[in-house]
Amino acid sequence: MKKFTLIGSGLVGSLLSIYLSKRGYKVSMYERRPDLRTNRISAGRSINLALSDRGWRGLEKVGIADEVRKVALPMKGRIMHDINSQLSYQPYGKEGQAIYSVSRGGLNCVLMDLAEKQGVEIFFNEKCDSVDLKKGNAVFENFETQKKTEVHADYLFATDGAGSAARLQLQLSTDRFQYSQQYLEHGYKELSIPPTPEGDFAMDPTALHIWPRGSFMLIALPNMDKSFTCTLFSF
Ligand SMILES: Cc1cc2nc3c(=O)[nH]c(=O)nc-3n(C[C@H](O)[C@H](O)[C@H](O)COP(=O)(O)OP(=O)(O)OC[C@H]3O[C@@H](n4cnc5c(N)ncnc54)[C@H](O)[C@@H]3O)c2cc1C
Repeated sequence: MKKFTLIGSGLVGSLLSIYLSKRGYKVSMYERRPDLRTNRISAGRSINLALSDRGWRGLEKVGIADEVRKVALPMKGRIMHDINSQLSYQPYGKEGQAIYSVSRGGLNCVLMDLAEKQGVEIFFNEKCDSVDLKKGNAVFENFETQKKTEVHADYLFATDGAGSAARLQLQLSTDRFQYSQQYLEHGYKELSIPPTPEGDFAMDPTALHIWPRGSFMLIALPNMDKSFTCTLFSF
């Protein structure tokens, strides 16, 4: 049986691991962070995902869309909040169309649960240090024990996100490797609007709320527990 090693168990790694294991491959995933499902990893920069048609198709193809729908809230349009507290509504599509608010961490947890059910092995606290492209090996260092493990696989997938360690290796060891990265001028911070004292949503939960203010902006997306996760984008 072909062995696949995935570096990083974020959204892409977790979903890809389900695709591969459904095809009958042996899949191991190495993640540098602790297990999201048992450790509360620092809140503050999580941002809800707005899941659209493309995302749903990726989930449907491996038969997990219904599981994710249980934790997703439809947003049919955006509600703009102007400086005088006036609201205006802009639909995202035709009648019945919507994008869906999902907790990024929550979706990642669902995907990891389903991956493990499929037989994927996930190793946490394992940071990829280096990759040997010729041998197909990756070296991981455990955060707690500092022990290094060399893993061999038939196929190695770098699903370790924007700051990919594997991409850095490709850059250093491959001739004419093209790569460019641009940084946004804005940073962002997570805020929260709790449910009302009566236990209801504080605003319309079927919309994505936006407070556009020129050089900065606040957005709010609804959660299953009737709170809103807000993100403040600013310089
Ligand atoms: C502000 C913001 C808002 C966004 N909003 C949306 C949205 O509304 N809808 C949408 O579809 N997309 C959105 N995106 C994009 C979406 O977040 C990314 O496309 C998605 O997270 C990419 O998934 P990934 O698995 O490639 O990377 P990540 O989610 O970054 O996962 C990478 C994983 O690899 C691990 N890792 C990193 N380095 C190593 C290493 N050396 N060794 C081992 N593990 C490692 C990390 O800990 C992480 O778990 C947004 C992105 C940002 C920044």
